Amino acid sequence: MEKIPSHDITPPTVGHHTPGESHTQEMYAKRRHIYVREIKGLFQKIRRSANWALMLVFFLLPWINWGDRPAIWFDLPGREFHIFAATFYPQEFVLLSWLLIICAFGLFFITVFAGRVWCGYTCPQSVWTFLFIWLEHRIEGSRNQRIKLDKQPLNTNKVWRKSAKHAAWLVIALATGITFVGYFTPIRTLVTELPTLEAHGWSYFWVGFFLVFTYLNAGWLREQVCIYMCPYARFQSVMFDRDTLIVSYDKERGEPRGSRKKSLTHTQAREAGFGDCIDCDLCVQVCPTGIDIRDGLQYECITCAACIDACDSVMDKMGYPRGLVRYTTENALEGKKSHILRPRLLGYFAALIVMVAAFAWAVNDRMPLGFDVERERTQLYQTTRDGRISNVYSLNIRNLDNQDHTYRLSVSGLPSVTLDDVVVSVPAGEARLQIVTVLVDASDLTEPSHPIIFTLQAQQDESLRIERESRFLGDIRR
Ligand code: SF4
Ligand code: SF4
Repeated sequence: MEKIPSHDITPPTVGHHTPGESHTQEMYAKRRHIYVREIKGLFQKIRRSANWALMLVFFLLPWINWGDRPAIWFDLPGREFHIFAATFYPQEFVLLSWLLIICAFGLFFITVFAGRVWCGYTCPQSVWTFLFIWLEHRIEGSRNQRIKLDKQPLNTNKVWRKSAKHAAWLVIALATGITFVGYFTPIRTLVTELPTLEAHGWSYFWVGFFLVFTYLNAGWLREQVCIYMCPYARFQSVMFDRDTLIVSYDKERGEPRGSRKKSLTHTQAREAGFGDCIDCDLCVQVCPTGIDIRDGLQYECITCAACIDACDSVMDKMGYPRGLVRYTTENALEGKKSHILRPRLLGYFAALIVMVAAFAWAVNDRMPLGFDVERERTQLYQTTRDGRISNVYSLNIRNLDNQDHTYRLSVSGLPSVTLDDVVVSVPAGEARLQIVTVLVDASDLTEPSHPIIFTLQAQQDESLRIERESRFLGDIRR
């Protein structure tokens, strides 16, 4: 199994490096609080834009209506799942399974291509954690102010800032809980019923659950979820190869690191034996998982690129070229050629395209009508008084459309074949079990078993037509 390598960057012996605290993290090591420093830069702009867009979609979607119902509504008691114009029923859960498989493949593809970018830019845990850190910064101040505040004894300033922060977190957590439940219960009804205690007990339970879940995960646990609880963090390393885009520190360029006078030009610093890293620790202070990217690729890294923006800003100030910490590949770092279009990536891409196309075709072509025919097995056939042969069948008709339908049943396959019940009404999303008797003149039966075709046709919609083959049995020895 391929693993994320961990590089040994034992401090050089040239005497420029001031060894700081070790950032090696052990399994279940005692947690140290991470005071994340806010940083601006290109990648943080992209990340923030993606985060705001995702939150906007999450909070707005339940409020959008489609006709007289919510556009997205997973109606569990009604066993109907509305997604804009389409309505799905439990019988179509296979489509949902396919969707989940496609999402998993999408994640594999993106991981082979660019590592944990999903974690850094779009994972809900990161999105909500970054939002909570953003609020913390607004209320308690910058990193240094927060460290100072935590060291202070309780005073009015500390109490009101801490209270305001937790209140703001709880408001966001409550909004998250209500919105989440709003995907399962119409949100307009939910927000009017919740305060008057008229909502269903389960609604209170799930709103409360997601309130606590969000508050703890984004406010308190934060990077602990990514490091210790997330299963993806555990297996993503096997999808990395030497051409996967990673956030990496260029050791060749940066070492030996060390602080220096700002007046020293790049060339003078080189002549004095310095690498480009000025050992300012800014890349560590901005890291939401609290690691030092200079220790090499680590599984805790969520590829958020905050350290790239931090280091680029330092390089700008020093007048050095950017990119000491950058998105690169292990091959590129070793001076070898990187292969973006490699067989593994193309394989995932091809599989993804095929699955998406097949899924789109299946959804587009799906007939909102289910029909199963089962022949009565206890009695093979009966002879009626008028000499005809009868067989009994159970027909299971499922109306998977979002409107009621009346269906006409017919049967064919033998010249004299007839059916006693011909019209069945089935409300939207419901199923009917219809027992029917099929009659055939004995003279038509030349074999002990004949194929017959049942046809189900919606009366007001010609496109809703489905056929099922079955067998008609009789005794030709008579
Ligand atoms: S090392 Fe850099 S990219 Fe990785 S999590 Fe920390 S800040 Fe983000
Ligand atoms: S931000 Fe750049 S210069 Fe500063 S310690 Fe990190 S790698 Fe070195």
